[in-house]
Amino acid sequence: MQELSSLVERALAEVAACAGLAALDEARVRWLGKKGTLTEQLKSLGSLPAAERPAAGLRINDAKTRVQAAIEARREVLTREEIERTLAAGKIDVSLPGRGEGRGGLHPVTKARLRIEALFQRAGFEVATGPEIEDDFHNFEALNFPLNHPARAMHDTFYFPDGKLLRTHTSPVQIRAMLERGAPLAVVAPGRVYRCDSDMTHSPMFHQIEGLKVGEAVSFANMKAMLHGFLQAFFEQDLAMRLRPSYFPFTEPSAEVDMSCVFCGGKGCRTCKHTGWLEIAGCGMVHPNVLMASGIDAERYSGYAFGMGIDRLTMLRYGVNDLRLFFENDLRFLEQFRTL
Ligand SMILES: [Zn+2]
Repeated sequence: MQELSSLVERALAEVAACAGLAALDEARVRWLGKKGTLTEQLKSLGSLPAAERPAAGLRINDAKTRVQAAIEARREVLTREEIERTLAAGKIDVSLPGRGEGRGGLHPVTKARLRIEALFQRAGFEVATGPEIEDDFHNFEALNFPLNHPARAMHDTFYFPDGKLLRTHTSPVQIRAMLERGAPLAVVAPGRVYRCDSDMTHSPMFHQIEGLKVGEAVSFANMKAMLHGFLQAFFEQDLAMRLRPSYFPFTEPSAEVDMSCVFCGGKGCRTCKHTGWLEIAGCGMVHPNVLMASGIDAERYSGYAFGMGIDRLTMLRYGVNDLRLFFENDLRFLEQFRTL
């Protein structure tokens, strides 16, 4: 019996030393399990003289009960400790400021397009749109690019197997607008256009805006005034503008539009290649062949047309020097335009 009470002492000491529920469970198996030390004691009762068995049995059962109670008490303590540890680890500081919702914004090219549209709408132009998958008639033929015309080579066109193509400019919208509405009309056609070309200043997909005004006695001087007024309004600067003779199949006469550099004011800088001028648009008087192909009386009506790169206007307005940045969708870049 001396042995039993020292066993109980050892069991109670072990239970008290258990630092976790797993260790406690191991101790329980070690002492009270099927092959536990105290269980073995009960089994050994059979080897005692019959007269001693009841008393010995009582003492062993009493020992088991004490150890059992100690384990339960220890389990309660350990369980509470574990709950407290979990709560402490998962503690939420409700007073911290939230991470906030990321707010989206319009793409800089979209912002520029909306601004351009608004300025022309104020000048009496309507916004017209057309399909990006075009046919040869609207993209080339009606615009006075007959088959095998060398100017077709200026456009590196993406063709589909069925002969359709990705429009290389927004000019086909002019044709569609004239065929639908007739004269007089004033429209601007913004949209995506496609050419097989890619570098710092060219992307295979880019944005153009085309303007067309047809009416009686619409003149070259009207066009010049409109473009100059637009550029000054868009850049919010007093800009000089000049026209250089050029060639487009769909206008005659045709001109390239230069404006004084928005960065150096004409003094010369890297952006304007030290010329003080930036090429910004192409324009001209609508070729009579184009008016006729669109069902408009070329004797009675005249018109002017111009085309500009929206991406280029956006780059110049925001001082961005690589066109590709607009199409990489890097939020670090795009976020800078949210409030502009
Ligand atoms: Zn400059």
